[in-house]
Amino acid sequence: MSVLDLARPEIRSLQPYSSARMEADGGQIMLNANESAWEPVGDGGLGCNRYPDPQPAALLQALAQLYGVSREQLFVGRGSDEAIDLLVRAFCRAGQDAILIQPPTFGMYAVSARIQNATVIETPLKPDFSVDVQALLDSVMPAVKLVFLCTPNNPSGKSIPREDIQHLARQLTGKALLVVDEAYVEFSDQRSVADLINRYDNLAVLRTLSKAWALAGARVGSLLAHADVIALIRRIMPPYPLPLPCVAAALVELSPSGQAVARENIAIVREQRAIMRSALSRVPGVREVLPSDANFLAVRFDDAGTVYQRLLQAGIVVRDIRRYPQLGDALRITMGTPEENARVLTVLNEGRA
Ligand SMILES: *Cc1c(COP(=O)(O)O)cnc(C)c1O
Repeated sequence: MSVLDLARPEIRSLQPYSSARMEADGGQIMLNANESAWEPVGDGGLGCNRYPDPQPAALLQALAQLYGVSREQLFVGRGSDEAIDLLVRAFCRAGQDAILIQPPTFGMYAVSARIQNATVIETPLKPDFSVDVQALLDSVMPAVKLVFLCTPNNPSGKSIPREDIQHLARQLTGKALLVVDEAYVEFSDQRSVADLINRYDNLAVLRTLSKAWALAGARVGSLLAHADVIALIRRIMPPYPLPLPCVAAALVELSPSGQAVARENIAIVREQRAIMRSALSRVPGVREVLPSDANFLAVRFDDAGTVYQRLLQAGIVVRDIRRYPQLGDALRITMGTPEENARVLTVLNEGRA
């Protein structure tokens, strides 16, 4: 059995859109795509009068190297949000199929599923925010085509042990695609499971440049999976998903000097996370600071609503996560610069003086 047997049959047989850029490339005089022959004002040599490469070779190369996979195992699109959407569309038949998630978790899995009219099945995280592996497997009925795991999880910050992911990939072989969202893995001690895609054809990994790589505004995210899954996703991607200026920004960030700066900032975030966790634990009115492997802390307060408002009045915006199950008393605080974080502590401590 091929992992593609899990995909929608009409997507497997779809004749994809063939763009001018795909059909012919590399000539000197390009008159095949109805583009302007003149560069736009202020282009700076980017060549934005031309449609971009749908999957730019240099960016694929840089990301494949960064993530330790081959270019055939990597799709790059407009953030991992786009990859989530394309996966749901490729694997879930509207009104028939389902995805499985573990709340409290990232909201886009359910949103993408609802847009596709796929059912959302939930197996809640345990009280310590770990995945209930057996309950998850017990919930996998034939309609479930995608199982999403988020590690480190947003908004709890907890990682899923590699052995659990491996066990799930094995148990779900031939049944469902296991999609592991590693948006925050750069901040964790635990390494990526990207290498495991060579062992399990039903394992997919989501990575992004939006968090540790400081490029949320450029929208560059990747899906790592078996080459057959990647080829399928490329059949349904928008014709030109990646704007030239965004590709250029990503290549600068992934250059040796760009990577050096990013790694320094990751180290600062990890250090700040430890400092803030212990400092916040001592703030009156704080019930608990959840341990986190990501670049944020989920913090329980006696009165989260009042704390949220007080921070807002001081010009500090944090995320109110009280709507999530098990987090009815919590706010999520992203790690900023050391100065920004110190200001958070000052405001929180002042309120109780
Ligand atoms: C932020 C986030 C994303 C979105 O990443 P983009 O690449 O910016 O689309 C994906 N998954 C999780 C868990 C996130 O927190």
